[in-house]
Amino acid sequence: MRIGVIAIQGNVEEHVNALGNALLKADLQAEVIKIKHKGSVNSCDALILPGGESTTLGRLLKREGIASEIKTAANSGIPIMGTCAGLVLLAKYGDEQVEKTGQSLLGIMDIQVNRNAFGRQKESFETMIDFDGFDKPFNAIFIRAPSITGCTNKVEILSKYNDQIVAARQENILALAFHPELTDDYRIHHYFLKMIG
Ligand code: GLN
Repeated sequence: MRIGVIAIQGNVEEHVNALGNALLKADLQAEVIKIKHKGSVNSCDALILPGGESTTLGRLLKREGIASEIKTAANSGIPIMGTCAGLVLLAKYGDEQVEKTGQSLLGIMDIQVNRNAFGRQKESFETMIDFDGFDKPFNAIFIRAPSITGCTNKVEILSKYNDQIVAARQENILALAFHPELTDDYRIHHYFLKMIG
């Protein structure tokens, strides 16, 4: 099994470490590679799209030719997890700011996002959230986090915080508004590993 972490910008090492720990705990083996250029996405059995800055990430993914590879991978059923800015990129629809600036999204999940949902009031915070299927709450770290403001019935809501959707799944695509890679609780990476099967 090979898992690719898109390594253009953002929390790349943290995802690599969290994956390593989750694999160890689950007694599974996988090769984890960092993807900076086109040509390796299609060799992966799963992909992680880390947080960072979604406008920059979107632009670079397109320029590097990785964006179209990710879309093809998504269509072929490869599990993809997007966190924070990664969630924004997964979306089909943006908010007013996203639409106005015409930032490029991958558009592979039937969700609408609010890019900086928790923006001004609270730049960064952490809080315990309930996550579907988890027996104990998860300590979620939000950093200029987005939220999901709308979705079709193909999308399963996995977590809400203050009435805002902060985690959801559509078949092989998993989107999180917070940063599971910044904690030492690897349950979400483990959940993702189970999606790979
Ligand atoms: N809201 C930011 C954006 O749209 C994402 C922040 C993050 O990934 N920590 O780019």
